[in-house]
Amino acid sequence: MDRREYEKKWRDNNKEKSAAYFKKYAQTPKGIKSKRINNWKRTGLITDDIDKIYERYMNSTNCECCGKEYNSSQRDKHMDHCHKTGKFRNILCRNCNQLRGHIDKDYKLIMKLITMC
Ligand SMILES: [Zn+2]
Repeated sequence: MDRREYEKKWRDNNKEKSAAYFKKYAQTPKGIKSKRINNWKRTGLITDDIDKIYERYMNSTNCECCGKEYNSSQRDKHMDHCHKTGKFRNILCRNCNQLRGHIDKDYKLIMKLITMC
């Protein structure tokens, strides 16, 4: 039995202990970082420098586009990346990140909206 099989068997036989351990781990700085980075990777971020991006993300206090200060919950802070290449771009507020996504999808439509004003 290899290590993975052993760990899976242990988790299956110790479900309560396992759940309690992961719940506790998820609240540590290492667990929070791991969860955040896994979410970024799941959304398509591809980088060799994840620690540097995470540090920039954690130290960012204002949107790198509009300058709006983030609220204390950190839920307004978004890691902007190119959805075609997976390359990291900026740390943005929700509004700027969504706008950038729309620009990426249909630049001509955004230009039409601008000229209609
Ligand atoms: Zn912004």
